[in-house]
Amino acid sequence: MKFSINKVLVIGLGLIGGSLAKALKQRRYCQHVIGYDRNPAELEAGLALGVIDEAAPDLRAAVAAADLVVLAVPVKATDRVLADIVPVLRAHTLLTDVGSTKGNVVAAAEAAFGTLPATFVPGHPIAGSEKSGVAAADAQLFERHKVILTPTPASSAEATLVIARMWQAVGAQVLQMEVGRHDQVLAATSHLPHLLAFSLVDTLAAEAANTDIFRYAAGGFRDFTRIAASDPTMWHDICLTNGDAILAQLDRFSAGVEKLRHAISSADSQAMLGIFTRAKASRDHFSRILSSSAYAQHPHSGPVDYRAQPGAALSGPVRLPGDKSISHRAIMLGSLAEGITSIEGFLESEDSLATLQAFRDMGVVIEGPHQGAVKIYGVGLHGLQPPPGALYLGRSGMSMRLLCGVLAGQAFDTELTGDVSLSRWSMEQVVLPLRQMGARIDTADGGLPPLRIRGAQSLHGIEHLLPVPSAQVKSALLLAGLYATGSTAVTEPAASRDHTERMLQGLGCTLDHATGRVAVQAGGRLRASRIDVPGDMSLAAFFIVGAAITPGSELLLQRVGINPTRTGLIEILRLMGADIRFEQERCAGGEPVADVRVCYRPLSAIEVPAVLLARASDELPLLMVAAACAQGATWIRGVGELRHDMDRLLKMLVTGLGALGIEALVGADSVCIRGGAIGGGALNAGGDYRVAMAFAALSQRASGEIHISECACLEAAFPEFVTLACRAGFRIGKEGG
Ligand code: NAP
Repeated sequence: MKFSINKVLVIGLGLIGGSLAKALKQRRYCQHVIGYDRNPAELEAGLALGVIDEAAPDLRAAVAAADLVVLAVPVKATDRVLADIVPVLRAHTLLTDVGSTKGNVVAAAEAAFGTLPATFVPGHPIAGSEKSGVAAADAQLFERHKVILTPTPASSAEATLVIARMWQAVGAQVLQMEVGRHDQVLAATSHLPHLLAFSLVDTLAAEAANTDIFRYAAGGFRDFTRIAASDPTMWHDICLTNGDAILAQLDRFSAGVEKLRHAISSADSQAMLGIFTRAKASRDHFSRILSSSAYAQHPHSGPVDYRAQPGAALSGPVRLPGDKSISHRAIMLGSLAEGITSIEGFLESEDSLATLQAFRDMGVVIEGPHQGAVKIYGVGLHGLQPPPGALYLGRSGMSMRLLCGVLAGQAFDTELTGDVSLSRWSMEQVVLPLRQMGARIDTADGGLPPLRIRGAQSLHGIEHLLPVPSAQVKSALLLAGLYATGSTAVTEPAASRDHTERMLQGLGCTLDHATGRVAVQAGGRLRASRIDVPGDMSLAAFFIVGAAITPGSELLLQRVGINPTRTGLIEILRLMGADIRFEQERCAGGEPVADVRVCYRPLSAIEVPAVLLARASDELPLLMVAAACAQGATWIRGVGELRHDMDRLLKMLVTGLGALGIEALVGADSVCIRGGAIGGGALNAGGDYRVAMAFAALSQRASGEIHISECACLEAAFPEFVTLACRAGFRIGKEGG
């Protein structure tokens, strides 16, 4: 059915009806905007204020002539108005409404129509003010606000589209919801807060002496109670029409207040801090959702490109943010330990904050992060609580893989979700061996998220042989092993990062080590400790390669983690002739740490030993940059043994290097790169932070600008990347975000 909208009739010319009429008229949505209200004074005012083109003296005649009818009367009046107008509605006339509750509107329509027509599409603008009446009509009221349409099963797609277009025409964002869901969601997000504001003001005002309290009330009171100035009749109607959903929310709220009351009366600091820190984190997260970003303090919301110009010699001391892998593990193991774990140097990136939020959602009290400091009130291995909903992990694959191991051993069900990019990564590598341990995990096709993990499964230890080294799979299995009967052992063909093992041992867990094999026994306990997170080696590698290829550079990287499973690149660069020294070597939180000094010295091509490459897999892109700047042809062998995602990564790198004039060839198990002159050009990092970093490092030796697209991943992993790089001498400009 095609709809042609010339005449719109708005019934109920108050705040919402008047605002919609005015906006439709101003934007010339249709030829004629007609108003009807039972109050003739409102109609006259609407005409005088230019809100409508015409005031209808007779409702039924106006309905019979309209192409689109908008009901904007109080929700309690809907049934009466519908009973009046339905007999004269033409078959092609569209009908919608703006009521704050939807179940009762649909019920009223069913009663009036008998069978709901395809032309009826209920709606609710999430916009308003404390004012009422047509004098308050505001043509901008709906701009950048949401409108929820709740089409019935009978509503036609064409009718829904026309109503959606009408709201878009006045600047609103339109979304759709099922009627019952709308009433539940609104009961929690709108109705409950309004009722609390009314009740608080009413309670405080009940005593005459409290007029004084109002006189001295500060901003918090004013902000919290602003909405108690809304129209009482409207809220009375809403309570009557959405009573069940509101009562359910009031009960939840009362239980929450009771918990807080108990925490205060028993002076339970941990419970109080738990409520306040969780609430603050949720409120902060909500603010970021409102600004279309996720967890990070300095969030980016859109695509990010870099423009990298040839930079200066790199110099100065650089203090790097905390190690990404260790930051994730510190939150997980600190939460599962007994007692208070203090973390210093925590990396405040979107990814690690996703892990932190997941544990908060499971009831762990976590203070901070504040300038890298985090305090975790650990709940012990069996103290996590069921989260209120799915655990959302943004784009963090590390969070999802490691959490699988922890959650497989819990007594409750969980669901893990992520953003679009994470939803493209298969989790099968972790899920399959966990299933062998007895875990019940459902995935989408191909092992893709979302993952549904069933609780209360009895896990048993396994002896697992990893086909390729993977610290994340190994860690997930060891974490699940904490909850399994017997021993859980993982053997790898080459050593992957061992941060989980070191931290587990630091927190009092005994592991059995043999060459290439590590095993954990069930039944242990973790004891809280202090965790000092060293500077991130993956980020340090960018600066190390930058200084190693830029003549005149002398750079000191402070407090870098030099865990032997992470220093493969440094050893390879030394073989190529780089001048890299460790100073002030020490141990922090079970991890070896040093200040790393790098001075420029020309690099020579080598044949990279496969054993070293296995310890530099994440740094392969930067190694290829070093090879492109070395004298001669560097052979990197053993790439076939690296992780499965390396094919795509190698392709991106070879294409990028080729575009800048560097010859690079990929064989079945090797890459050969011939050093040479590097030009400028446009490259794509393909959403991989390691590739983005490598292309940015290349700019130091390029003859022109390198434009790198798809770098948002690097911003998410290391929010301070561009600032730190430019401070050291790089010339990288950021676009977008
Ligand atoms: P309003 O300013 O009081 O306007 C309602 C108008 O409808 C009044 O002029 C009222 O006249 C008139 N009316 C009442 N019964 C009628 C009837 N049987 N026939 C014709 N006109 C009638 O209220 P509003 O704030 O615009 O709310 C209207 C609708 O929008 C409600 O369903 C509400 O749930 C929804 N809504 C409100 C907000 C908000 O923040 N205000 C936000 C979203 C949705 P009288 O003055 O004579 O009663």
